[in-house]
Amino acid sequence: MTRRSNTAFELLILGSSSAIPSDSRHPSAQILNIRDRLFLIDCGEGTQNRLWAHRVRWNRMSHILISHLHGDHVFGLPGLLTSLSHLQRTQPLTIAGPLGIKNFVDNIFSHSRTHLSYNLTFMELDSEVEGMVWDDGLIRVRWFPLNHRIPTVGYRFDVEETYRKLKIEKVSSFPIPVNRYRDIQEGKPVSDSGGNIYQADELSDLIHYHKSYAYCSDTRYFESVLENIKGVSVLYHETTYLEELSLKANETGHSTALQAAMIAKKAGVGKLITGHYSSRYDDLMPILQECHSVFPETILGTEGLRLEI
Ligand SMILES: [Zn+2]
Ligand SMILES: [Zn+2]
Repeated sequence: MTRRSNTAFELLILGSSSAIPSDSRHPSAQILNIRDRLFLIDCGEGTQNRLWAHRVRWNRMSHILISHLHGDHVFGLPGLLTSLSHLQRTQPLTIAGPLGIKNFVDNIFSHSRTHLSYNLTFMELDSEVEGMVWDDGLIRVRWFPLNHRIPTVGYRFDVEETYRKLKIEKVSSFPIPVNRYRDIQEGKPVSDSGGNIYQADELSDLIHYHKSYAYCSDTRYFESVLENIKGVSVLYHETTYLEELSLKANETGHSTALQAAMIAKKAGVGKLITGHYSSRYDDLMPILQECHSVFPETILGTEGLRLEI
C-alpha cells in the first residue's frame, strides 16, 4: 500500500494526419503522461518541434513505442533521438517497435556518424503475437497485432492501483496531528493526543483505481483487436477515410470512421478518439458525425488535444 502522490494519466495528441502533412496537421505522434513518466507513441516527422510547441518536458520520456515502420510514424525518430543527445540526456531510453526498428535507427546513425550521450535499448516486437512491453506493478504496457500492409502493432496501457482515501471529516474530528495523516494513507494505525488508537480502516476508504488507454494505428477493420482493447477507458483508433471510401481503406490497410466506431462499440470502450486523417479532408466534421452515428462518445482527435484518461 502506498500513498498516492500523483494522479496524472493524460494524453496529448501531437499529430493527426496520415501520409501527407499540412500546415496545421502533423504526422502521427502522441504523448502519454502516466504519473510523470512519459511514453511517446509513434514519432512522425517534426515530432520534436511539436514537443517544444506544447512545452512537453520530453527528457522525461522513458519509452518510445512505434506502431510500424511507415514514414509517417517513424521519420521523426532520428532527429528527436539526436536532439536528446545534444540536450545531454544520460538516462537510458527504450524504443519498442516491430522487427526492423533497430536496423532503421542503427543504419541512419551509422551513415550520419551519430553518437548518442545515452544508451538506447531496443525491444523488437513480434507483430503476430501479443505481449508485455513494460510492467512496474502500477503501469502495464502491452502490444498486440494490427492488420496493415506491413507488420504493425497496437499498444494498451493499464494503470491500476489500490490506495487509501482519508475520510477527512472524520479524521479532523479527532485530535490527530496532521503529520500522521500520511500514516493512515499507508494503512498504519495512529493515535491522537489523548492516546486513543485508530485503525486505518476507521479513518480511510480503500479505493481501487483502474484506467486504460489503447492505441490502434494503422489498421484495417480488424475484429481480432476486440479482445485486446476490451473495455478500455479511452481508445484511439485511426479514421483515415469516410465510409464512402471503404474499398480504398481496405486496399491501403486503413479504417473508415464508421469502422472505428463499430470497433469502439463492440469493444465496449469508454471514449473513442479519431485520427490519422487523409489529406483529402479539410473539414473533419463528417468524420466525427459518421462516428457519432454508431458511437456517440467519440472525440475528434486534433493537434493539441489533451485528455485526462
Ligand atoms: Zn500511417
Ligand atoms: Zn502505415
